[in-house]
Amino acid sequence: MRVLVTGGAGYIGSHVVDSLIGRGDEVVVFDNLYAGHRSALHPQATFVHGDLLDIGQIKHTLDRYPVEGIFHFASHIQVGESMKNPFKYLRDNIDGMTNLLDVAAQHGINRFILSSTANLYDAPQRIPISEEEPLIPGSVYGETKLYAEHALGWMDRIFGMKSCCLRYFNACGAHPNGHIGEDHRPETHLIPLVLQVALGQREKVQIYGTDYETPDGTCIRDYIHVLDLASAHILALEALADGQSRVYNLGSGTGYSVLEVVEMARKVTGHPIPVEMSPRRAGDLAVLVADSAKIKRELGWQPEYDDLQRIIETAWNWHRSHPQGYPD
Ligand code: UDP
Repeated sequence: MRVLVTGGAGYIGSHVVDSLIGRGDEVVVFDNLYAGHRSALHPQATFVHGDLLDIGQIKHTLDRYPVEGIFHFASHIQVGESMKNPFKYLRDNIDGMTNLLDVAAQHGINRFILSSTANLYDAPQRIPISEEEPLIPGSVYGETKLYAEHALGWMDRIFGMKSCCLRYFNACGAHPNGHIGEDHRPETHLIPLVLQVALGQREKVQIYGTDYETPDGTCIRDYIHVLDLASAHILALEALADGQSRVYNLGSGTGYSVLEVVEMARKVTGHPIPVEMSPRRAGDLAVLVADSAKIKRELGWQPEYDDLQRIIETAWNWHRSHPQGYPD
């Protein structure tokens, strides 16, 4: 099958591209390299250096490379930044998505996989969090993903375009082959920041809040390995052949506190990793853990990297071999 992957030079996109090519699909990556990295591009993928804000470039790409499905990763993803600079998110994420859907609909593409987020669950009534929870975005970033999900609902109703929205919890880890991994600039995520301390690039990790209502007082999150996300995307693409649009939460189902993550990183790296207790970070919820029973039941998805040690080992393998991230 030939597919388009927007954001295929980014963290999650590049791992999905690798899995698609590994099973014999033909992949066209569309990326503006704003946050993606040229060296994360798969050598067997066709690369289009294009911007979703330019609808002509999308049209030209799909005219030249007819595809059967689209995986859409390309967007700004920082929750905190979206609250400081909302227009960057509202404009780029929403306009980019709208342009992509417009061209996809014109080309009769009827399989669309959306990279969505657990940031839609800002007031969960039950933990673990199922897809039934009310959709309340926790940020402007989340709002743009909610727009994307809603737009896909209309695409199904109007054009019969089938979609799968995958709401990720905390994506982490790296490909065990060591070629691709996480490289955000600036980095804001816990695991890479902790590993930068182990590499001697930072003095310490700030622990944002130690007075949450959790056993050790620090926030609990559901860390899901990027290759388990990738396998879910591939199952989702196949599942859309049955003509049903769907939505799934994606997490490993196990919560780890910030201190447990640091402790595991100390074990994996052998570095003491000093910490500093800091005030809470605005907008953080105490506990975010996914109920992924629906995708397991309906698509037979099973996370392979379901323990934190293996997750951190793969991340450490990447960071140690790429201490400055990708060369570009
Ligand atoms: N966190 C922290 N120190 C950091 C970065 C993150 O204590 O330097 C905490 C953060 O408050 C949250 C958890 O680690 O509870 C995971 O944060 P991350 O930014 O990785 O992902 P998020 O859960 O915000 O999507």
